[in-house]
Amino acid sequence: MDKAEPVLRVKHLEKWIGERRVLANVSLEVGPGGGLAILGPNGAGKSTLLKVVAGLWSPSAGEVWRFGAPMEDEGRPDPRVNLVGHHSFLYPALSGLENLEIYGRLYQIPRPRERALAALERFGLGWSSRDPVRTYSRGMKQRLTLARAWMCQPQLLLLDEPYVGLDLPGQRLLDDWLEEHRRSGGARLVITHYPEEALRVSDAVAILIRGRLVWWAATSGMSADALTREYSGWLAKGGMAVSVSFG
Ligand code: ADP
Ligand code: MG
Repeated sequence: MDKAEPVLRVKHLEKWIGERRVLANVSLEVGPGGGLAILGPNGAGKSTLLKVVAGLWSPSAGEVWRFGAPMEDEGRPDPRVNLVGHHSFLYPALSGLENLEIYGRLYQIPRPRERALAALERFGLGWSSRDPVRTYSRGMKQRLTLARAWMCQPQLLLLDEPYVGLDLPGQRLLDDWLEEHRRSGGARLVITHYPEEALRVSDAVAILIRGRLVWWAATSGMSADALTREYSGWLAKGGMAVSVSFG
């Protein structure tokens, strides 16, 4: 891959699910070390975008390039790409350790058991590594899904609301990993509902409404208030004005 080549390039992506156009003319790029956060209301198409970029769903039109090459339709799972989504595909009857070990073997990671143990320690799950995943709390499952992604050291990280369910120490663990990932030249696409989170994890932010990227900007120097105002403005234009009052 050329050094100057973006890790991810999406060109005029369109995705239809049944009769509905879920994504329309989506174009974006994320370079090495770059992070793009995407804000958007429920049903905007954010998770669909990540699934297409992850290769789980194929585009209806347009192109997805990863590591300087067009993504193949029926491509094999690429260990350089990892999606942390809502459906964690964990085996409930197996332990955390077994889940990670199986995943490590699937992705042909060297010394999968050692990597799995290191990942569990890193995400604070060492103490429960031998418990069946069905006994894990929501936050513990989220930690496990993140540990699984960490184990693969993906160059392209696709995170769908990754902070949901995490306690404060868990959030710190994720922050630390994302910072490390950035420094090592990895690229991130992160979906979040919170402007402050978007600013923390990215250097650019975009707004997706009804399948269209309607706005984007570099986050450098941007305040959470300014981003909240921008986002609220777009929600209002989309007929989804928010009005919050207390007391
Ligand atoms: P977001 O993540 O922004 O909340 P999604 O990408 O999950 O939104 O969904 C966008 C649209 O695509 C919604 O209108 C939803 O109904 C539709 N959609 C998503 N997944 C499916 C599916 N598996 N089958 C049918 N429609 C779907
Ligand atoms: Mg979603």
